Amino acid sequence: MTSTLIVGAGSAGCVLAARLSADPARSVRVLEAGPACRTTRELLDPAHLPVGPESQVLWRYRGNLVRGKLIGGSGAINGSYFIRPPAADFAAWSAVAGPRWSFESVLPVFCDLEHDMDFGTAPGHGVGGPIPISRTDNPTEFSTEFAQRCVAAGFPEILDLNTPTGYAQPRPAPTESRGGIRQERPPILGSPGVPDVDPTRIFTRLGANHTDGFGRVPLAVSRGRRAGPAVTHLYPAMQRPNLLVTSDTMVTRLLLRGTKVIGVEWARGREHGRTYADQTVLCAGAVESAALLIRSGIGPEPLLRSLGVPIVLPAPVGAWCTDHPEIGVEFPDDEPDEPAVPLEYVLEIDDLELRPYTQMYTPGLRRVGVALMHPESTGELTLVSTDPTVPAHVDQRYLRGETDRARLRDGVALTADLLGRPIGRIDDAWLYANLGTSQHLSGTCRMGPERDERAVVDDQGRVHGIDALTVADLSVVPVPLRRGPQATTVMLAAAIADHMVM
Ligand SMILES: Cc1cc2nc3c(=O)[nH]c(=O)nc-3n(C[C@H](O)[C@H](O)[C@H](O)COP(=O)(O)OP(=O)(O)OC[C@H]3O[C@@H](n4cnc5c(N)ncnc54)[C@H](O)[C@@H]3O)c2cc1C
Repeated sequence: MTSTLIVGAGSAGCVLAARLSADPARSVRVLEAGPACRTTRELLDPAHLPVGPESQVLWRYRGNLVRGKLIGGSGAINGSYFIRPPAADFAAWSAVAGPRWSFESVLPVFCDLEHDMDFGTAPGHGVGGPIPISRTDNPTEFSTEFAQRCVAAGFPEILDLNTPTGYAQPRPAPTESRGGIRQERPPILGSPGVPDVDPTRIFTRLGANHTDGFGRVPLAVSRGRRAGPAVTHLYPAMQRPNLLVTSDTMVTRLLLRGTKVIGVEWARGREHGRTYADQTVLCAGAVESAALLIRSGIGPEPLLRSLGVPIVLPAPVGAWCTDHPEIGVEFPDDEPDEPAVPLEYVLEIDDLELRPYTQMYTPGLRRVGVALMHPESTGELTLVSTDPTVPAHVDQRYLRGETDRARLRDGVALTADLLGRPIGRIDDAWLYANLGTSQHLSGTCRMGPERDERAVVDDQGRVHGIDALTVADLSVVPVPLRRGPQATTVMLAAAIADHMVM
């Protein structure tokens, strides 16, 4: 029998499978709903996000919410932005879930995972890990102009956005390439000649301080290729005799004996089957891990009753989730796109992130995204049917609170100032008309102690009240993260794998 069955070969599942199967005594089986499309040009090209209407590798939900449905999951189709959250987020996480998730505990995991080609030898960084991290050397004209405007507005350039809090920024000291690691380089920006922006006005409006700033985005990209977790973790482990990965196989339900999970039911085309395992780990992502629990009778009692699902264990699955709402500030631009990753620079101001996209998502319109990274409003995930092919209903409840709306209004006004492109009245209607998602949903199976009425899993991802079941993906993160979640997802999977083998 399989020792560990992993549901979903996405960002977390790939890392977990590789870490666990390193022990030859453990047989690891992975079931993935999507296909294995390892070598397609689109997937390897980090400039390309295969998320259009024609894409065949997506789960789609209301409100343009998508997830990757293929080996590699969302990490195989995302923007490659690989950035650690600030220490404050881990302070909040560990306050909810315990010291395993303090910044001091997770920093070594981040370091072990990375091979940072720019700052790997700096304190708080890593060299020789499986994930190559680099930053763009030749930004597009639009990225360059955005950065120059940040300089003109008085924002400092942060050379390394992944520098841990409390560590000095690496000093700009360019040297020869050594052992494949480029040493720190000077800022490539700073040239004047851009329209005036009044920094006092911006700082006053946002209460920003000078620890905020802009910088080159750390990217999981190597030699111009997207380096998602399938490429960095799963594929290199696939030759191991104790690891079996099966694609195009959707897990439809957990199999339980009482409150112990003994395996799963799955469907592959018209074929249906069961796989039994000592231990099952859900890595199906923030939507599908929650959906699978609910379909299996682990979820809010009223919801299970309304769906007619026999109740195994009442649990607040889907009752809390969070995401980063994003407002698109667009303006006409006749210049064609240059081939580039979607984001080369970002400007961070406390809980706001300004994203100057290199690609036009609407022809002729250039966009800067203004994302709220620490929203107060939280959402809910429910199911409308027990049919696994009917998408879950995710209600993000963006901008329910006035605080969130006010922050985004400030952020949009700042963006208009920064770009020198006035926007008229920014009222709630304008915000809603320009609102989108950052695709960073998390927290549907929150981590926390059993006494916490919102908690679904414990500090190692084990589902409270259920034996032999762990959730190890972005669903478990119990606080909003102030940065994109990919780096955290990978760290989380590695950390949970390490707890499992201890
Ligand atoms: C378009 C897009 C762009 C993004 N860009 C960035 C970015 O640049 N930087 C960043 O930090 N974050 C980004 N994100 C977010 C980030 O990619 C995800 O948060 C992260 O990959 C989540 O990892 P996960 O392991 O939780 O889920 P996923 O990577 O989504 O993996 C879940 C896997 O489980 C499989 N699965 C689901 N249900 C079942 C089932 N029932 N049976 C079998 N298999 C199943 C899925 O097919 C998938 O392969 C982006 C997300 C999207 C969608």
